[in-house]
Amino acid sequence: MWWLSDTTKGASMSELTVSVLGTGIMGAAMARNLARAGHAVRVWNRSKDKARPLAEHGAHVAGSPAEAVEGADVIITMLHDGPAALDVMRRAVPGLRPGARWVQSTTAGVEANRALSEFAAAHELVFFDAPVLGTKEPAEAGKLTVLAAGPSDDAAANAVFDAVGARIVWTGEDASAGSASSLKLVANSWVLLLTNGIGEVLALAKGLGVDPRQFFELIEGGPLDAGYAELKGSMVLNDRLSPASFGLDTAAKDARLIVEAAERHEVRLDLAKAGAERFRRASELGHGEEDMAASYYASFDQ
Ligand code: NAP
Repeated sequence: MWWLSDTTKGASMSELTVSVLGTGIMGAAMARNLARAGHAVRVWNRSKDKARPLAEHGAHVAGSPAEAVEGADVIITMLHDGPAALDVMRRAVPGLRPGARWVQSTTAGVEANRALSEFAAAHELVFFDAPVLGTKEPAEAGKLTVLAAGPSDDAAANAVFDAVGARIVWTGEDASAGSASSLKLVANSWVLLLTNGIGEVLALAKGLGVDPRQFFELIEGGPLDAGYAELKGSMVLNDRLSPASFGLDTAAKDARLIVEAAERHEVRLDLAKAGAERFRRASELGHGEEDMAASYYASFDQ
């Protein structure tokens, strides 16, 4: 059972205190949109230089996770993975207050979601399993799709989703079950297949001396066309891999989560495994900080 709601942009609860832990590509954009929506925003990032510019947007830049969550109505974690989210929340403990909402938006996977929800229960936090779909540009425009599990009538959480997203897909009321994280892994398996797929298509074209524009013209407007493949392909062809919208090492982490989740459920995913290996190899070749479209380079020795 799942249901959709369009966000209403500004029509909901304002003046919340919202803490954003992790101000990388996604967290920084979300923090800016929360500030723009009129909320009091408190931010923390491991490397302070990424959090500091948010002061210009009115955010309080905290020196520790515990300071960042002081007085928070809602805490958002937007960190690399589940272990990082758990570690940062442990460090936030002195500032946590019972009843605060924890919107866990890191792509953590289903297993880690269980450990995170147990931490939330132990500290009397209202937990939301709330990964997002959409990359840097939709994050900056406040147009993410939020996949959310938790108490769907919570006004504070909805106000936060309203500020960062254009659409909320509710997947269940029980955040500990990981239904939003499961949907996120399914969606990302498609995203990563498309990214690796276009990488291999372009590599083959290069090897065979085919102009890649001929390929794109061939599929344009027909059932084989895919906007996302075109987007990632053009990043490679125009050498626009930095700064990343979706970092290659982040994609490698997501690919591992997908493969592990499938194995746990005795599902064989040949392509996802091969894709994970492409990301690993491209990272080894020095493309880890570039956009995941750089998986293209896994087709070549250097
Ligand atoms: P990012 O720019 O690499 O940011 C990752 C953040 O995690 C940074 O703040 C980083 O701190 C922090 N971090 C990493 N390891 C840490 C640790 N051990 N302890 C404390 N902090 C740690 O990545 P992003 O693209 O914003 O992604 C954030 C999350 O959103 C990931 O789970 C990703 O899968 C998910 N996501 C990303 C996209 C996308 O298109 N980019 C879309 C949807 C979901 P430092 O700055 O100090 O390294």
